[in-house]
Amino acid sequence: MADWSPDSWTTKPIKQDVVYEDAQGVKDALDKLQKLPPLVTSHEINTLNNNLKNVALGKAFVLQGGDCAELFDYCNQDMIEAKVKLLLQMSLVLIWGANKPVIRIARIAGQFAKPRSSPTEVVNGVEMPSFRGDNINGFDADAKSRQPDPSRLVAAYFHSAATLNYLRASLSSGLADLHSPLDWGLGHVITPSIKEQYSRIVGAVKDALRFMRTVGIDKDRGVETADIYTSHEGLALEYEQSLTRQLSTPTTSSSTSAGTTGGFYATSAHFLWIGDRTRQLDGAHVEFFRGIANPIGIKIGPSMAPDELVRLLDVVNPTREVGKVTLISRYGAAKIDAFLPAHISAVQASGHVPVWQCDPMHGNTQATPSGVKTRHFTDILSELRQALEIHRAAGSFLGGMHLELTGEAVTECVGGAAGLTEEGLGERYTTFCDPRLNEKQALELAFLVAGFYRE
Ligand code: PEP
Ligand code: MN
Repeated sequence: MADWSPDSWTTKPIKQDVVYEDAQGVKDALDKLQKLPPLVTSHEINTLNNNLKNVALGKAFVLQGGDCAELFDYCNQDMIEAKVKLLLQMSLVLIWGANKPVIRIARIAGQFAKPRSSPTEVVNGVEMPSFRGDNINGFDADAKSRQPDPSRLVAAYFHSAATLNYLRASLSSGLADLHSPLDWGLGHVITPSIKEQYSRIVGAVKDALRFMRTVGIDKDRGVETADIYTSHEGLALEYEQSLTRQLSTPTTSSSTSAGTTGGFYATSAHFLWIGDRTRQLDGAHVEFFRGIANPIGIKIGPSMAPDELVRLLDVVNPTREVGKVTLISRYGAAKIDAFLPAHISAVQASGHVPVWQCDPMHGNTQATPSGVKTRHFTDILSELRQALEIHRAAGSFLGGMHLELTGEAVTECVGGAAGLTEEGLGERYTTFCDPRLNEKQALELAFLVAGFYRE
């Protein structure tokens, strides 16, 4: 690629930059990262590229989800298993609903860095630097912990590696085995009619699995295990650059050649995205992203003009590879109908074929009267439903959804069949950034979206 190198972003203006006092510490951390092995392989990244091509063409659906801000402390057996099980259950419901393969991408094993709207925040009446994510500074509310610490970049690598190791190990040891009893967790559903509808779907899925076992299809790979890809916002470019490697690209899986001279792969995760605050056409993040071979996401919201969107696609995907770019739209339930149609028609006219994914979380954040950041289940569902309908009407495909969720029983979003109210939010509000769907709300959302496809 002309004029691009893993560090060419350093010549461009950058938003959300981190200023370290310890320059030697930064150098040592990046030197160390450069020597460590890739976390994911070019083969896996290419497989995801191929899968996303199918999503862009309407032949598959992508479910992406996980924490807003992952913490190093989340790197433990229970939390990893809970998240993986939830994504697997949701994907099974969606496969049944959309009648398409579902590609699973977790916001996990690296979703540490957070863009912030202000460099400082007031905690307990004291102004201090904002928490920027566990790979940058500490959450503890004191000046020392809030100072950017470069050794956290190396800690981020090792926490990602440990999380990914357990993810891979548990998948290959049968965590995703559809024969094992699934806990569909419907106990909380208080309306008999919704419960009946859900039970019907669960029954249909179980019947399909029983049929597969009877006819022996279940011995094929795919019922015993599943793929889960990893993703995070590519915000900390020093970190991403240090893990970017020129790797050969195997031509076919049966090929005996060493492969062609390959492209540059960001090996910190399979899929990286550019956040809504860092997608400036002439900025550092777009510069870095335009050179990597991974599939990439771009968050788009009301502030994106349709012609700018097309110019951005031309910059990051000049060869117009189908499905290379996932457009992650996040307008809000009240605004999607004013913005999405023009974005779709501009992209259609340009000849680009991206994956269109709906993030129904980030345009629907609001504060309760007492100042708690939350999101309403009805808004989340409404934005998803509108996205599906707008794409259908435009002859386009809604290729997937992008959610903030957790496998824990948190109380951060309002609504859902368990009837969580604003007053109940205090019970288990544990997010370090945005409010997430808890496991019951997330599964319920999957049921409802599956239902839209079956209507
Ligand atoms: C996020 O995905 O957590 C995020 C910060 O989103 P956005 O860039 O869309 O605001
Ligand atoms: Mn978020």
